[in-house]
Amino acid sequence: MNISTIRLPLEPNSWRADFPILSRPVRDGQPLVYLDNAATTQRPRQVIQAIVDTYENHYANVHRGIHWLSDQSTDLFEDARQKISKFINANSEQEVIFTTGTTMAINLVARSWGDANIRTGDEILLTEMEHHANLVPWHQLQERTDCRLRHIPITDDGQLNLATLDTLLTDRTRLVSITHVSNVLGTINPVAEIVARAHAAGAIVLVDAAQSAPHSPLDVQQLDADFVAFSGHKMMGPSGVGVLYGKQSLLEAMPPFLGGGNMIRRVKLDRFEPADLPAKFEAGTPPIVPAIGLGAAIDYLLQVGLQKIHDYEQVLTQYAHETLGRIPEFHSLGPAPERKAGIVSFTMDGIHPHDVAQLLDRHGIAVRAGHHCAMPLHKKLGITASSRASFYFYNTPAEIDQLAAALEDALRVFRRR
Ligand code: PMP
Repeated sequence: MNISTIRLPLEPNSWRADFPILSRPVRDGQPLVYLDNAATTQRPRQVIQAIVDTYENHYANVHRGIHWLSDQSTDLFEDARQKISKFINANSEQEVIFTTGTTMAINLVARSWGDANIRTGDEILLTEMEHHANLVPWHQLQERTDCRLRHIPITDDGQLNLATLDTLLTDRTRLVSITHVSNVLGTINPVAEIVARAHAAGAIVLVDAAQSAPHSPLDVQQLDADFVAFSGHKMMGPSGVGVLYGKQSLLEAMPPFLGGGNMIRRVKLDRFEPADLPAKFEAGTPPIVPAIGLGAAIDYLLQVGLQKIHDYEQVLTQYAHETLGRIPEFHSLGPAPERKAGIVSFTMDGIHPHDVAQLLDRHGIAVRAGHHCAMPLHKKLGITASSRASFYFYNTPAEIDQLAAALEDALRVFRRR
């Protein structure tokens, strides 16, 4: 691929100027090459400004009708919910629950829906490529209910082996909970197909969209997913806020997860009546400013264009595979680039992944090393750790060249030892 002659789906440099941190020198004055976007993304000035503006001008607790400032804060908070609802094409804002992130969203479903619906011997179908956030809540549910956890295996090239679905989906399967995009392999899973097959077998489906919602268009109605979870901080929003989307009929039938203020209609000394959606699942003071910041991040994402982001990251990923693939010691994990999102996890012959990350850091290049909260997947791959470069639309092909040069340099350092 001759990157200089390709017409890129978007021009990263025209957006980079909005991100103050991307022009901040790191270490000994080197430019930052931020390739750790699957862990968390950076924020543009517009999001930072929305946060500052809320604190400086509109901040109060969100209790409509109490006082003028509180009305402003409530309006901004509910506007953010509306933006998210439109962003994912939910049927109504009632289906958008603010959580602290993907982890809490999945735990909410496991505790509330799980405890109410799962009985001994019922089956929950997961996959071998899940993040711990989509494994441990189900282990805990298994401890409480003695349900059975089953897993869709992965193929040698890191895709879900859907040939196994017919036997794995049984009349005991109640829930299929799957990641849309693997945070290690980058694999984009055929979620719509899995949803259709799960529904045909009588199971509902939760989609972990932590790695997909920030990078490509997400239409919950088109997917027909029953629950979808994602995190604000992976899509340029603040940390401390995330979303659980749920179909209204399911959410209405579920008992509240956390108890406290805001989630009630009425409280007596001996009992309570829960509030309507979405308040029923938002006990206590919600992440007011983070939610407003997430609304600003969504405005920004829509300006860039989700399809363009997806298409551009495809080009970056293909370019990364090609460029890094020329290094004989480099081995990427997961499928061919056309089948993955902008996540390139890899191992290097002769260098431990943590050493790779440390040596790259000397060049101002930020990548992640370790098990990336997917220990069972690494075990399946026969490794304990990997290094991971993950992209966003503000990354450039030149940064991939820098990564390749720094990896060559790391090899030279290790050969000298
Ligand atoms: N699922 C996936 C696929 C992820 O990549 C992550 C974050 N690494 C999570 C869940 C958990 O997200 P959070 O820590 O924001 O709750």
